[in-house]
This record gives sequence, C-alpha cells and structure tokens, in this order.
Amino acid sequence: MLKIDMHSHIIPKQLPDWTKKFGYGDFIFLEENEDRSANMMQGGKFFRRIKENCWDADIRISEYQEYRTQVQVVCTIPVLFAYWASGKDGLEVSRFLNDHLIELVERYPKNYIGLGTIPMQDPELAIQELERIHQLGMPGIQIGSNINDENLSEEKFFPIFEACERLGMAVMIHPWQMMGQEQMRKYWLPWLVGMPAETSRAACSLVFGGVLERLPKLRVCLSHAGGSFIPTIGRIEHGFNCRPDLVAIDNPVNPRTYLGKFWVDCITHDIDLLKYILKVQGSEKVCLGTDYPFPLGDLEIGKFIEESDLPSRDIENIFADSTLNWLQLDKNNYL
Ligand SMILES: [Zn+2]
Repeated sequence: MLKIDMHSHIIPKQLPDWTKKFGYGDFIFLEENEDRSANMMQGGKFFRRIKENCWDADIRISEYQEYRTQVQVVCTIPVLFAYWASGKDGLEVSRFLNDHLIELVERYPKNYIGLGTIPMQDPELAIQELERIHQLGMPGIQIGSNINDENLSEEKFFPIFEACERLGMAVMIHPWQMMGQEQMRKYWLPWLVGMPAETSRAACSLVFGGVLERLPKLRVCLSHAGGSFIPTIGRIEHGFNCRPDLVAIDNPVNPRTYLGKFWVDCITHDIDLLKYILKVQGSEKVCLGTDYPFPLGDLEIGKFIEESDLPSRDIENIFADSTLNWLQLDKNNYL
C-alpha cells in the first residue's frame, strides 16, 4: 500500500549566515557537533539539537522504509519562516529554502514532495514567490498559524489566499510562535498547550473571517489534526449561536459547516480521537502526517492506524488518497 507522510520537516545542511549578511536579527544557523548532530542556533542562543535525519535525504528514506512509507511531503521547520524580517530579506530566505526543496524533489521524485515557504509579512513579495515556485512545480506551501501575531483573517493576507486558489496551490497551516509562550516556559507548555490552541486560532480566523466562504476552492490542511479546533467545535458553534454579535460579524455561516472542508493530518497519538475526527471530517479529508523527525511526532508513521480496526478504505484514504487529492497529484507518479 502506498504511504505518503504529508507533514514532515527538513532543513538544508548549509544555511547562509543571514544575520551577518543582513546585519540584524536572530536568523537560524547550524553548528555541527562531533557526533554528526547539529545545534540549531538562533542568534547565538541554542534552540534545538537535531540529528542527521533532519537534513540527510538518504537516511530519511531508509528510516521511512522501516515503516513501509515511500513518500515524504517536506517543508521547512517553522522557526525558519523569519516573518519578523523585512519583506526583501524574508523573500531571500524563502527562495533559498524553496530552491533546496525543488532540487531535492528533482533528485528523488518518487520519495519527496516539497511545500514552499513565502514571506507572509510582505503580501506582494509572498505572491511573487508563490508564483515562482508554482512555475517550478511545487504543489503547495506551508504557512504559520499567525503572522507576527496577526491573524490569518486580516484583510492584507487575503490576496495571498486568493493567489493560492487561483494557482491551485495547497496550503498547510502549522502552529508556530505560540501565544502565551512567555507566560508558560515550564513543562513544554508552548508545545503541549500553545500549539493546539494556535491551530484552532488559525482555523477560527479563516472561518469567522469568511476566507473559506470567499474562496471555496482553496485547499487548506490544518496540521496536528486541526489542534483544538475539532475537539472544541461544539463550544465554537455554541459561541456562534449565542453571541453572533461577537462571532458572526464577518461570516454568517455556522462554523460546524466547515468540518470536512479542511484537510487535517492524523497526528493525535489517540485512536479514539482520530475516530471522532474521521466521523466528522470523513476519511477523504484526513491525511497521514508525522511531524518527523521531531519527538512529539508520530515517528512510527501511522502504526497506530495499521493496528486499528479502521476499514481498509479509510486507511487507504489516510495513507495516500487524501494527500494526493489535497495536493492534486497523480498517484501513478509514486507507484
Ligand atoms: Zn510540524
């Protein structure tokens, strides 16, 4: 059975010293360690230690083979978005990351699919880069759940989504720069509490801002199974019904209507929650995702689904067909 992981992260091993080049900012760079790992440094401060499977394409393919997974959809690590940089510098960072992915996909067309990065802080340049990578064959992009703390419902981002719909570029929304992280430094709370909330923040912004209503052909996938959006849809719908003066000011459509319009990945670590998500979304809108190679991800690549009692049609959708449909790619290219 074809297995495609639609949510994984990769980084080029050689990153330019953008802080030096641009003369400001905490751009990410890598410091190699003797054990072949590397430290991701953010303006001289340690951010995260990563291993070779974060950059080495062949090691990744062999690790995926252990779980009979042939294809990886790869995108950058959100800390590299650099939305805080100037638009011009953000464009340069995006182009570098995108060219790396385009080259990777050219080398391994049956194993890798790339999702691009665009400088969301400058909508005009973001659309320019979107058009460039579309021409070069990329099927979609990854964006953050907020853009420098501004929500995706802000009118200035609408032309970007409009361009995505026009070009047929899929959009994956990834939590990053988690709300409240300054106030919750202990216990890994930004990852455990902030990330699910961030994804719901993005989903609610797109729904209540009417973005999906105005762009019905836009194909959006929410990572981490939609975060807290789907588990709290009852509360969100109730809020819409009881306080339309606060909630329904830009879009009169009930938020529950949008279940099954978004795609989501299956990263739940909980088969019962996944079954609920399948019930409300339909399996054609649930994709295999892992967040590989990071430890909070599903590094057994869908094993909990293979071991479940889900119908084989649902498993086939999750493992391949939903992702191919989201990205509008032909299955034959990966068999
Ligand atoms: Zn991720």
